[in-house]
Amino acid sequence: MKTFAIHTLGCKVNSYESEAYIERCLELGYKQVDFKEKSDIYLINPCPFTNTAASKSRQKIHQALLLNPQAYIAVIGCYSQSASSQLEKMGVSAIVGSDFKKTFLENLDQLVENHQHVNYVHDLNSKLEFEDLNIQRFLRHTRAFLKIQDGCNQFCSYCIIPYTRGRERSLKSERVIELAKRFVENHHYEIVLSGIHTGRYGNDINTSLSELLQQLLLIEDLERIRISSIEINEITDELIDLMKTSPKIAHHFHIPVQSCSNGVLSRMNRPYSIETFINRIEYIREMIPDISISTDIIAGFPDESEKEFEETLQNLDKIHFSFMHVFPYSKRDKTVASKMNQVHGTIKKQRAHILNELSDKYKKEYYEHFVGKTCTVLVETFKDGFCFGHSSEYIPVSFEGNASMIGKCIHVKIEKLNSLGCLGSLEV
Ligand code: SF4
Repeated sequence: MKTFAIHTLGCKVNSYESEAYIERCLELGYKQVDFKEKSDIYLINPCPFTNTAASKSRQKIHQALLLNPQAYIAVIGCYSQSASSQLEKMGVSAIVGSDFKKTFLENLDQLVENHQHVNYVHDLNSKLEFEDLNIQRFLRHTRAFLKIQDGCNQFCSYCIIPYTRGRERSLKSERVIELAKRFVENHHYEIVLSGIHTGRYGNDINTSLSELLQQLLLIEDLERIRISSIEINEITDELIDLMKTSPKIAHHFHIPVQSCSNGVLSRMNRPYSIETFINRIEYIREMIPDISISTDIIAGFPDESEKEFEETLQNLDKIHFSFMHVFPYSKRDKTVASKMNQVHGTIKKQRAHILNELSDKYKKEYYEHFVGKTCTVLVETFKDGFCFGHSSEYIPVSFEGNASMIGKCIHVKIEKLNSLGCLGSLEV
């Protein structure tokens, strides 16, 4: 029996696609082994988002080559798209860019059998079709990720994604519904709608995220729908109303702000000012008071002055996110920002540290706000008498329960904070 090992780096969309690669390998009768072991096939689904991520991706390729020089090594996705010639020189067997993932999976057994070298990469300037990888279920997750959108037209100055994934495209809503029903049948009661630019879903096929959500809400036994990440200018009034009135839609928006200084936002080519951002957040909180609003933020973007960083800190205190994913700026070749004046590494680290500490403080305050309140927890696991799951607001909650609660939404009263998040008890 042939063995395969897989390594994934990067965003939720990459994780989603890796699930399809695993599913296909198992379908072909291959046995999955750890990436540290000798294997016949190595699948590497790396991320070129920053130079650091790209360097980690190369390390993984070297690791695979060292573990088994005879192995069939395939590098799939964004990194192949951005570094195809480099990968050729490294001796990778299959270089699979965006728009060829499905072809690669369909031909995988023959490619491996014949140890056939392929370079499936083409120019992304042409209009691309949405690649439907036809996933059945998620073996390692209780919630299912459903990729509904791919590509991006935004061209933020630090980001390479529009160059590696091409322009925006959406999966037809009938197919989204079909996949969602399949996931529910396979016991995934929460679906996370994912994409590179999820909020732009439907723009190319004459529909919208709100319309899609309305259709998904009709699926029986689907307990919860979560939106993975969305840009502030894509949160429509319709979407807010829908979230407010539909308990099945998770009360959580992950809205990447990236900086809270207008100067930096403009250099980033982000399409909003910090004032507009704050106003919209205030409106969302007015409509849905306990909602969780989290974010991504970059520390030490090129030319970020002390004054601009201070401005970011002051505005963060006005916004009070429920948590932040902090990224020290990392240069990516070929992007506009890579040619700007870089902030010294020590300063970047200091700023990232300050932001991380702030994030911990905001998260604790947000969780504390729920003590004494009742949350709806979708139970994911059960161990030693305790159920564990996430609330609609994405708070990790544990409480005394039983195994029959797995996959159900349970009302839990939050009693206190613990190391995992919050500890609660069944509401009586
Ligand atoms: S919106 Fe900006 S950061 Fe997000 S994928 Fe598009 S270009 Fe990259």
